[in-house]
Amino acid sequence: MRRVGCPLKPAALLKLGVDGIAEAIRVSGMQYVKAETIINLVNSISVEELVELDPAELRAKLLSVRGIGYKTADVFLLMYRKYPVFPIDTHIRRVLIRYGAVKPGDSYEHIRSVVESSLPRDPEYLVKAHLSLIKHGRTVCRARKPDCQRCPVSEYCAKVIQNKN
Ligand code: SF4
Repeated sequence: MRRVGCPLKPAALLKLGVDGIAEAIRVSGMQYVKAETIINLVNSISVEELVELDPAELRAKLLSVRGIGYKTADVFLLMYRKYPVFPIDTHIRRVLIRYGAVKPGDSYEHIRSVVESSLPRDPEYLVKAHLSLIKHGRTVCRARKPDCQRCPVSEYCAKVIQNKN
């Protein structure tokens, strides 16, 4: 933040350029890819649009920016615009596949619609559910060696049921 100033201004980011931003966010990893995406974003969408544009229109615009995918667009819409959308990250996808709610080849949009159709359209609820599922995927339903013994939903999980049969 010291490098770019606070509050963050698009002009300051453009002045820093890819190298300057990458240096500032080095700790996050993949800093050059992220820095290029940030520059693409600044060049494509104004702050006013980010704050005021109709969420569905903004989603389409965000997805047109090179480097921004479905998850990033949906995280922005849910967290900052309080729009009732459910971002699907790698942990959530894994948990839902093992649980049997979706299949391994299902698209992002399909998985998102499955989750959204079974949860209330309440942004606060969706943020909590999103963070809880990520935590579950990181700590219990881990990529390697899921800890099914201490999983609260093991009784209903397709992976566990299949293993018993
Ligand atoms: S029972 Fe096991 S595989 Fe199923 S969701 Fe829980 S931790 Fe994951």
